[in-house]
Amino acid sequence: MELRLYDTLTREKRPFVPLDANNVRIYACGPTVYDFAHIGNGRAAIVFDVLFRVLRYRYGTGHVTYVRNITDVDDKINVRAARDYPGVPLNEAIRKVTELTYQQYQDDVTALGCLPPTVQPRATEHIPEMRAIIEKLVAGGFAYVAEDHVLFSPQAMNAVNSVLPRYGALSKRSLDEMIAGARVDVAPYKRDNTDFVLWKPSKPGEPSWPSPAGIAVEGRPGWHIECSAMAWKHLGEKFDIHGGGIDLVFPHHENELAQTCCAFHTDRMANVWMHNGFLQIESEKMSKSLGNFFTIRDLLADWPGEVLRLSMLKTHYRSPLDWTLKALKESEKTIEEWHEILGQSGSDAANLDSSNREIYPPLIEALYDDLNTAKAIAEVHSLRSAVVHSAGKGDVTAFGDVLELLGLYRGVNIAQQARELRQLDVDLVKVNELIAERTAARARKDFKESDRIRDELAAMGVAIKDGKDADGKPLTTWEVAR
Ligand code: AMP
Ligand code: ZN
Repeated sequence: MELRLYDTLTREKRPFVPLDANNVRIYACGPTVYDFAHIGNGRAAIVFDVLFRVLRYRYGTGHVTYVRNITDVDDKINVRAARDYPGVPLNEAIRKVTELTYQQYQDDVTALGCLPPTVQPRATEHIPEMRAIIEKLVAGGFAYVAEDHVLFSPQAMNAVNSVLPRYGALSKRSLDEMIAGARVDVAPYKRDNTDFVLWKPSKPGEPSWPSPAGIAVEGRPGWHIECSAMAWKHLGEKFDIHGGGIDLVFPHHENELAQTCCAFHTDRMANVWMHNGFLQIESEKMSKSLGNFFTIRDLLADWPGEVLRLSMLKTHYRSPLDWTLKALKESEKTIEEWHEILGQSGSDAANLDSSNREIYPPLIEALYDDLNTAKAIAEVHSLRSAVVHSAGKGDVTAFGDVLELLGLYRGVNIAQQARELRQLDVDLVKVNELIAERTAARARKDFKESDRIRDELAAMGVAIKDGKDADGKPLTTWEVAR
């Protein structure tokens, strides 16, 4: 069966041929860590997790490298650090904000059924690679120094007649039109209004590093150069797939591509560019001012992660996704029905180690068609009907494999949990809230409070278990006390 993926650069769906089938390489732009991630951010995490899982199925678990970066240098982080940790030296406060937010993100996307990426590089740990790329760009005549900034010149790139792609090709913009259309209040240090920052001087107190290109004062990187540096370090000069949300096509990905291709004199950065569509809430743009802004954490208080994930998968990743309460309720019902099947033939019905088994071909066919998860979900419904009517043990295992591949079953039977909670007359929100409070108490080493919450849960009939997640971080799960 052929795997076909849609490429934003060429605007076509093509058979996917990896550069090296023993090491298929993907880069997805990850979060800027300054606050809880919202459910729109969750969509990107889930889409590229599905891609990662499909590639692991096709090429083997150990033959895919998935890099999702962490942007930990950004003005929004600085503002947050100064606000939340007044009196703490700014760099220390920044470290606190980024550590805490990164951990929150990790916990949230794990709850959404996302596997840990192979590498999660931090921008601040790749400053030498950024400097090296900037030096190459200056030496090649693609970038210049002005007033302690280093700027990239798209016009210099397009003046070169060689293997290099054209600036603007990814976002289908013409550089001439961009020049003509640009606003006039351009920063005085720019030669052209389309030039963008690779490096800039730091203000007093801001994080700073020794600058490249002979600049005497310390500075910090622009956003786009971070991803070029991290992708280069972990995936090489050219790799297979680069992904992110549709809003990143311009300028972020256009600029990453320009930097990388000009630094290494290559015709492309990635063979395929994949972008997920935006998520809206009840047909409206999600925004704080409209009061319809949801963090992943907010939603996890009310719904199991599998329910949120299924609500995402019902829409193809390139289409806009309308997030509605009605769809969430439907997903909850569906997940309960599906997990019920696994529960019926005993807890070992879904053997989670499906790595060597062939998975239901109609499901794979749908996923191989540019990750058509909407079709894949329809196939799960068909398989369910077949399993319900035959209900042999082999069929249930096959059904478990399908849910596991989609990240919709992680060893906890949601249907059974829901049923038992109803019997106890306890709701999931309350249990999740208490567990979150207890996790916070443990983090601040308030063990008296953590024990008190454990006892409160026990009195409700809920037993908790402290373990570790796939990353080795502490994770508390629960079950109804027997
Ligand atoms: P932001 O929180 O705006 O910095 O966005 C971080 C990432 O989330 C980017 O990759 C965006 O593409 C993605 N993103 C932001 N808002 C949405 C949304 N409403 N739907 C889907 N993706 C989004
Ligand atoms: Zn990026």
